[in-house]
Amino acid sequence: MDKEALRRKYLEERDKRLRPDGNDQYVRLTGRFAHYLDDPYTPRTERAPKTDHVTVAFVGGGFAGLVTGARLKEAGIDDVRIVEKGGDFGGTWYWNRYPGAQCDTASFVYMPLLEETGHMPTEKYAHAPEILEHCRRIGKHYGLYDDALFHTEVQDLEWDASRSRWTVRTNRGDAFTAQFVVMGIGPLHVPKLPGIPGIDDFRGHSFHTSRWDYDYTGGDPSGAPMDRLAGKRVAVIGTGATAVQCVPHLARACAELYVFQRTPSSVDVRDNRPTDPAWFAGIATPGWQQRWLENFTGNQTGGLTGEDLVMDGWTDIARRVRARIAALPPEDLTPEKMAQAYEDCDFEKMEEIRARVDTIVRDPETAAKLKAWYGQLCKRPCFHDEYLQAFNVPGTRLVDTDGRGVERVTERGVVVAGVEYEVDCVIYASGFEVTTDYTRRAGYELTGRDGVRLTGRWAEGMRTLHGIHVHGFPNAFIVQPAQGANLISNIPHNLTEAGRTIAMIIRHALDHGFDEIEVTEEAENAWIELLLSGPGGILGASADCTPGYYNNEGRDPGMKGRLNIGHPQGATAYFSYIDRWRTSGTFEGLEFRERARRM
Ligand code: NDP
Repeated sequence: MDKEALRRKYLEERDKRLRPDGNDQYVRLTGRFAHYLDDPYTPRTERAPKTDHVTVAFVGGGFAGLVTGARLKEAGIDDVRIVEKGGDFGGTWYWNRYPGAQCDTASFVYMPLLEETGHMPTEKYAHAPEILEHCRRIGKHYGLYDDALFHTEVQDLEWDASRSRWTVRTNRGDAFTAQFVVMGIGPLHVPKLPGIPGIDDFRGHSFHTSRWDYDYTGGDPSGAPMDRLAGKRVAVIGTGATAVQCVPHLARACAELYVFQRTPSSVDVRDNRPTDPAWFAGIATPGWQQRWLENFTGNQTGGLTGEDLVMDGWTDIARRVRARIAALPPEDLTPEKMAQAYEDCDFEKMEEIRARVDTIVRDPETAAKLKAWYGQLCKRPCFHDEYLQAFNVPGTRLVDTDGRGVERVTERGVVVAGVEYEVDCVIYASGFEVTTDYTRRAGYELTGRDGVRLTGRWAEGMRTLHGIHVHGFPNAFIVQPAQGANLISNIPHNLTEAGRTIAMIIRHALDHGFDEIEVTEEAENAWIELLLSGPGGILGASADCTPGYYNNEGRDPGMKGRLNIGHPQGATAYFSYIDRWRTSGTFEGLEFRERARRM
């Protein structure tokens, strides 16, 4: 392995993809795409506006709302109202129903509350319909449907200091109050398009993958053949995790499929398999899912040695790094030598992933273009056993844009390097807003104590204690990974832990007759200081990486981006810290107040 040559090649490929406009290269879905705001799956029912009071209002009915709702119910807090813009629970799994959608992290750790609900995932990597059904199962099991408001978007959350409660206003005319509000809006729920000219001029059909148009394609989310694409020429723009899953299905269905690539994904082995019920009965002993969660997180983030229960591509790199470090003589256990061991393992892994392309893709020119030249954790790693194979299907063609992206869309098709590819349909697999402001993605403002708005409070970047509490916003909680474990390989683990923490805090306040909970400014500042003392960012995603949302499109993230970090000692350290913090019962850094005493 010529490491110097590899480093040079990685930088060359990164430079091709660097752009001065960073995140501004993308635009929101408007015009012909504005229908993404409508719900094609569930009819909307009329109801009277709510003007009552609840103990807890939760914004968002995805995994975050479900796991927090579950923990609240377990803690005996029954009065929980989930407000959700979709027509049912599920969040990302409600909206994203593209063919081939499945979890990329093993179901046993990805699907929350399996032990509590008694569900055995049918496959190591469950497909989307099963995950959506599991969301409904959690909703039913914990009685979360009873007071849920579907097809309802929060428009405004305002703190009413005189009554120590929040007023929740929605697009359905609701104006109810809640003693506590919790927000779990999801990191990737606002779809985006490339900001290229001509998208609206296209005369054929087009849609974004998050709103798959089965009326046009035929087929269904469970993978039935897309028979209406027979004889059709289709373009897919983008080759990220979504495209990797839906391209094999399109390749089977279309007469001609053009896959427009700007940066190849790294596509490692998937090795999916049905779950053997006898094996599952053996592992599913009391406490099994928590053990699996801790084992996966520990292995994947380097905090654990020993047995690897999940054994997949996510834990593979960590296994290699550990083995290499264990082989170092004691005098070589320096940060530099350990970083070197990490880089060596990563080069080795990526060489294997690139070699895999050659063993699968028959056309050498196409194979060469499908090779990813960057560190595995620079961009979201992908795992699939049919994506690369799809480029052997007659009629499927890779159009590589050499890092520059498609130039424009015309009335007839897609243009790259001056060549127009005529198609009947353009499918945008172009991803979601990730690094934009929280309130922009949420679609509502949070107005806290003394009229302070969250947008203003976070103008220089997110500031929280544990990623959950914000000074100036009493009785409000946020459920998301940043400034906590920041574990990207298994987002639900972040959410289940946050849900447990919040339920314990609210239980404590109710038991002791406290009306208000607020993080002190000192505790918030101290937490931020601790976070900034670590390496920061997403593991592996440095400025040397090819651009993407992991590294702020390759631009200096500034303080805003730098604050998108996790615990300096990693996810496992955060989870054990937060468990000690919440079980101590003192909730250090939070102030619990009675209204009468404050006034
Ligand atoms: P991504 O943002 O990962 O991918 C968007 C794609 O569009 C990229 O390949 C990007 O290229 C490409 N693109 C953008 N602009 C242009 C352009 N002008 N010309 C050509 N190509 C362009 O979105 P996805 O929907 O694929 O995935 C988003 C995230 O959702 C994932 O990273 C993952 O976290 C999550 N996800 C999870 C899944 C799971 O767990 N099962 C499945 C699918 C998604 P470039 O790379 O150069 O920016």
